[in-house]
Amino acid sequence: MTDGRNRKPAIQTRTAQALHFVEDETGAVIPAIQPTATYARDHNYSTRKPYWYRRDGSQTTQQAESIIAELEGAGDTLLFSSGMSACTAVIESLAAGAHVVAPEVMYHGVRQQLLAYEERGLLALSTYTAGNLDELAAAVRPGETALLWVETPNNPNWEVTDIAAASKIARAAGARLITDCTATPPSMTRALEHGADISFHSATKFLNGHSDVTAGALSVRQADAGFEKIAEIRKLQGTVLQSFDAWLLIRGMRTLFLRVERASQNALAIARHFEGHEHLEAVLYPGLASDPGHEVANRQTDGQFGAMLSLIVKGSEQTAIDVARFCEVFYPATSLGGVESLIEHRKTVSGEGFPVHERLLRLSIGIEDADDLIHDLEQALSRAAR
Ligand SMILES: *Cc1c(COP(=O)(O)O)cnc(C)c1O
Repeated sequence: MTDGRNRKPAIQTRTAQALHFVEDETGAVIPAIQPTATYARDHNYSTRKPYWYRRDGSQTTQQAESIIAELEGAGDTLLFSSGMSACTAVIESLAAGAHVVAPEVMYHGVRQQLLAYEERGLLALSTYTAGNLDELAAAVRPGETALLWVETPNNPNWEVTDIAAASKIARAAGARLITDCTATPPSMTRALEHGADISFHSATKFLNGHSDVTAGALSVRQADAGFEKIAEIRKLQGTVLQSFDAWLLIRGMRTLFLRVERASQNALAIARHFEGHEHLEAVLYPGLASDPGHEVANRQTDGQFGAMLSLIVKGSEQTAIDVARFCEVFYPATSLGGVESLIEHRKTVSGEGFPVHERLLRLSIGIEDADDLIHDLEQALSRAAR
C-alpha cells in the first residue's frame, strides 16, 4: 500500500475539492471569477500565456475544464456556451459531405441540427434504432463514415447502447465515435474509457446540477488535429463558456457524486414502485431488471442507472398531458439533471415530426424525498384517469 503521502485521492475527493484548489496569493479555497475580456501585452508587445482574448478561453473556464477532464479521464476538455454549441462545433468540423451515422431517436436539438446540415448538403446522414448494434453496424460504411453518434441512454426512451461494442465497429470502419452520455454523467460513465473518441456532455444538466447554467463539454483522450479544429471553431464562433457560468459550474460539480447518487436512488425507487402500475402501459428505465438494456447499463454506469426515466401513460395523449399538469411537487418543465424533479409531455416539447410516443412523460428525478415524488405521481395519475 502507500505511506499516506503518495496516495492519490479518489476522484470523489478531487471533485469535492475542485482538484484541491488553493489560490496562490491568498490561500482562498474557492477560485475567484476572472471576468476580463482582454489581456494586456508585456513590454515586448507579446501576450502573456496562455490567453489574449476571451473567445480563446479564460482562466475560470479553464479551471472548470480541468475538473471535467479529471472526471472524464481526458487529456483535453473544451467547454462551450451550451451543449448545442458543442455538438454544432463537432458537426461543423466535418469535411463537406461527410457521412454521419446517428440514432433515429435522440436528443431533439442534435437531431434537428444533423437534419439541417443534411438538408443543405453538408453531410450525409444514416440512422439506426438506438440500442440496436446490428442496425448500427449495418449503417456504418467502412472507409467512408466519418462520425458515429451514440447517445446512451438515449432521449427519451432510455435505450442503452454498448459503447465498447460501438467503438469496435467505429474503429474497424475508420470512423470517430462521439458519445452523448448527458443522462449518465462521468461520475457514472467515463465514456473515453469505454472506447469513445469524443465524450460529449450537456453540462447544463447533471454536471452543473442546479438549472442555472447552460454549458457543453467535449473531452478527448489526447487533443489531435480534429480537436484543434473544434477549438478553432469555438474561438471563431465565440461559443466559449462565460466566466460567471464557468464559476457556477465549478461550484455545482463539487457535489456531483452526492447529487447523482441520491437522484439515481430516487429514480430506482420510483421506477420499481410504478412498474406494472394500473394507469401505466410502461416504465422505461434501464435500472429495472426487466429492461432490455439493464445488463449493459449495469456495466457502463458503475452500478447506478441515472435519474432519467419515462412513463407511457394509459388512456389518451390528453391523459398524459393531464398527469404532467396535475403534479404538485414535480415542476412541469423541460430540461433535466437539476436537484429538483421535472416532468414533461415530451411530444409537446420536442414538436411535430419528432418520433416520440404521444403518451410519453419524461421525468428528471431530483434529490427530494422519494415518497413525496411517488405520492405526487400517484395523485396525478389517478386524477388524470378519472
Ligand atoms: C440538453 C441536452 C443536449 C443539449 O444541451 P444544451 O445545454 O441544452 O444546449 C444534448 N444532448 C442531451 C442528451 C441533452 O439532454
